[in-house]
Amino acid sequence: MPETYDVVIAGGAATGSSTAYHLAAEPAFQGRILVVERDLSFARCATTLSAGSIRQQFSTPINIEISLFGVAFIRGLPQTLAVDGEPAELPFHEGGYLFLASPAGAAQLRSNHALQSRLGADTLYLEPAALQERFPWLDCGGIAAGCWGRSGEGWFDGYTLLQAYRRKARSLGVRYREASVIGLELDGGRVVGVRLDDGERVACGAFVNASGASGAAIARLAGLEIPVVNRKRCVFTFDCREDLAGFPLLIDSNGVYVRPEGKGFICGTAPPPERDPDCEDFEVDHGLFEDIVWPSIAARVPAFEAIKPGRAWAGHYDVNLFDHNAIVGPAPEPANFYFANGFSGHGLQQSPAVGRGLSEVIAYGAYRSLDLSPLGFGRLAENRPLLERNVV
Ligand SMILES: Cc1cc2nc3c(=O)[nH]c(=O)nc-3n(C[C@H](O)[C@H](O)[C@H](O)COP(=O)(O)OP(=O)(O)OC[C@H]3O[C@@H](n4cnc5c(N)ncnc54)[C@H](O)[C@@H]3O)c2cc1C
Repeated sequence: MPETYDVVIAGGAATGSSTAYHLAAEPAFQGRILVVERDLSFARCATTLSAGSIRQQFSTPINIEISLFGVAFIRGLPQTLAVDGEPAELPFHEGGYLFLASPAGAAQLRSNHALQSRLGADTLYLEPAALQERFPWLDCGGIAAGCWGRSGEGWFDGYTLLQAYRRKARSLGVRYREASVIGLELDGGRVVGVRLDDGERVACGAFVNASGASGAAIARLAGLEIPVVNRKRCVFTFDCREDLAGFPLLIDSNGVYVRPEGKGFICGTAPPPERDPDCEDFEVDHGLFEDIVWPSIAARVPAFEAIKPGRAWAGHYDVNLFDHNAIVGPAPEPANFYFANGFSGHGLQQSPAVGRGLSEVIAYGAYRSLDLSPLGFGRLAENRPLLERNVV
């Protein structure tokens, strides 16, 4: 007889472990939960390799509301994810994001800011003079405006968040098993079994696809197609001699970002399309730093003209080519197959709300707190993109 679980989750990083924790903590759910994770060191998942940042500065209401909950969750995490009275730890550096806009982008920045403010985000729209006063190290050449997160935005360590979810989930009875999902058994329009690469099969009542860069391949095992591809994103570190106190996560109008990390900085950018193929490898594109990132940050922050470059790494974004937003929630068929895919570079900060939402939809058949249906699979079938304009 195969082992039987009410819910099997493929992928145990931020999304999978948040879902496992929220479901196990849900009073209306009394079932058994198994997380199948192919690499319990988590060395190559996006969660571990990410830039670990959270912002309210999105352009769609659903993404702003997801992040408002995300930051509240991070603030309350020590108590929420405490185990046996021992608080969880997740240092949160609330330095804010600073988005800069060229004259062509200023109107969009202003309308994003208006939406963010209406929804309760603490962001500040700044004209060049105010920008210069608040951030004296900034060269405002070619910049028409900026928007800064006065509170509720910042950075933390993704691996530490994942381990905090996981420790709490295990304390609530969630099982983790190191194996790869290689097949799904379907019967009567439902997923009834999950085949693993160790030769075993587990029976399941529901299946969650939280497998990051494997999201499209796992969906295909259930006969589902999602336009999600892997794109390499490189992160470069460096030290700077000057003390730039209060430096935020700065995103220039060309998309290049830089933020403090410990005593130094990290930076990166999305490569231009001709340099951004689908990828499986983790080789760092050092040319990107030389050709695009460093010239850009040195022009914007003259103190970065003399820096000491350090190590660099590459991770994979699971990019949803349809509209650069996550696909979350049940599939039309198999109806007990749940998506949590295509996060397109903002899945870490979305993991609290996505895990909570999936746990509600599995336990109650509907969202109860924040309605995540704008991110549902239905928008793809109906060709209704939910375009996010602030993609980093
Ligand atoms: C360089 C970089 C910077 C980023 N910066 C940010 C940021 O600042 N803020 C932010 O919010 N997001 C950021 N992201 C995106 C964010 O990291 C991801 O969206 C998020 O971590 C996704 O979490 P996940 O659990 O869905 O996927 P992952 O972390 O990729 O985890 C998927 C897991 O599934 C497992 N798996 C895969 N296939 C199988 C299988 N067949 N069977 C069993 N297990 C399987 C993998 O081993 C992995 O552990 C960044 C990503 C990168 C790469």
